[in-house]
Amino acid sequence: MPPVPAVTPAPAPPAAKVPLPAGVLTGLPTTDQVLAWTVDDGSDSEVVRLYVEFARTSGTRLTFFLNGSYPGWSDHARLLKPLVASGQVQLGNHTWSHADLTALSDAGIVAELQRNHDFIVATFGVDPRPYYRPPYGYRDERTDAAAASIGYTSPVMWYGSLADSGLRTEQEILGLADQWFLPAHIVIGHLNFLPVTRVFPQLRQLITDRGLTTVTLDDMFQR
Ligand SMILES: [Zn+2]
Repeated sequence: MPPVPAVTPAPAPPAAKVPLPAGVLTGLPTTDQVLAWTVDDGSDSEVVRLYVEFARTSGTRLTFFLNGSYPGWSDHARLLKPLVASGQVQLGNHTWSHADLTALSDAGIVAELQRNHDFIVATFGVDPRPYYRPPYGYRDERTDAAAASIGYTSPVMWYGSLADSGLRTEQEILGLADQWFLPAHIVIGHLNFLPVTRVFPQLRQLITDRGLTTVTLDDMFQR
């Protein structure tokens, strides 16, 4: 196989980290001009590849909440791994098969998170704990406790969405980015459909125009 080209030097993340608050995260507790752009699932392998390429060529810092059951994560592990190693892209646990945690037993919740955890550790050599995102955002005190029993103590929700877990147009995605790419927001997008990949330059420009710096959760919080 050809060598993976050199990684674009990423802009430095903010120097000062804050203590990780207990429990559910929905935003970033800061007055800094930072945006946590988080991206989930990965049902389309080509979208996974294009998002990784976007990160690599733009230096954008991203957090991927991945489901290891989607082949794209294995298909493109070699391309993604250096970005994970450098910290530019952080990996969070989104369960193995995108399960509704509230519909599972405690043991089922643990099994879904553990299988995905093991995949991430084996494939990328990093430990995602304590960060996970409950699929569909479905969680309650019981699911939180089951996840916490294996170290997943921070369910990461969001405050703003590109709404592209299903198919959306490029214009819809840009409109939602205009609405939600704001300081201290955690915004959710998806690696499922191609339209977002066709507006990466505009999304990048929006971030620049607003004076925002992208951050991962590890850029922001002390573990
Ligand atoms: Zn999801």
